[in-house]
Amino acid sequence: MLGIYALQKFSTLDFPGKLSAILWFSGCNMRCPYCYNPDIVFGEKKLEEDEVLNFLKRRVGFLEGVVFTGGEATLYPNLYNFAKKIKEMGYEIKLDTNGLKPHTIYTLVENSLVDYIALDYKAPKEKFYKITSSRKFEEFEKTLKYLIDKNFNFEVRTTIHTDLLDENDINEIIRDLKQKGYRGIYYLQNFFDVEKTLGNVSSQKRKLDISKLEKLIPVELRNF
Ligand code: SF4
Repeated sequence: MLGIYALQKFSTLDFPGKLSAILWFSGCNMRCPYCYNPDIVFGEKKLEEDEVLNFLKRRVGFLEGVVFTGGEATLYPNLYNFAKKIKEMGYEIKLDTNGLKPHTIYTLVENSLVDYIALDYKAPKEKFYKITSSRKFEEFEKTLKYLIDKNFNFEVRTTIHTDLLDENDINEIIRDLKQKGYRGIYYLQNFFDVEKTLGNVSSQKRKLDISKLEKLIPVELRNF
C-alpha cells in the first residue's frame, strides 16, 4: 500500500530558508535509471499518518516547514486531507514532484495546501520516455504551464547524467522554458555516485559542458 515511507525529523537544506521535516512517500509513476531511491519507489507504507502528525504537533514553533518527497508524493491517495491537517498546524509545505499528476497539483495549489513546488523537468519530449519510462510528457507539461500561468512560487530542475542527457537536451529544455514564460531559476543537479540506483547506472563518463548552454534564462548548478 502506498503511504509514508520515512520521516527525516530535521533538515536545513531541503526547503529554502526553512527548518523542515521531510516525508518520503512510497511509490512512483516513473522509472528513472539514475534514481537513488529504488527502495522507496518499490516500497510500501511504513508510517501511519497519526505518528507523523503527532510528531509535527510536538515540533510546532520549532520547525517551520514540511517537505513532501519520494518516490512521488502526489500518488498518495489521502494527500489532500493530510496536507490540510499539516497546514492547520501552521506549517508551510514544499512538494517535490515529477508533475505527472496535474489535477492533484491544481487542487493543492487552489486550496492553499502547498507553498512551494520543486518540479522535475526530466527530459525533453523526445527523450522523456527513455529517461522516465513514462509516456505522459503532456501531463507534465500541463503542470508546468499551470504553475507558470499561476505565477506560483516554484522551481524547475533537471538531474544531469551525461550518459543520458547532453547539452543539446538541456538547451532544448532551456528554450522550452523560455518560450513558455518561466520566470524562475532553472536548476541543474549533477548526478552523484551512489551504491544503488534504480537502473544500475554507472558513473558519468564526463561532466556537462556548461559553456555550451544557451543563456536565455538564469541557470544555477547544484553538486557540480
Ligand atoms: S528519480 Fe524518477 S523514479 Fe526516482 S523517485 Fe524521482 S521520478 Fe521517481
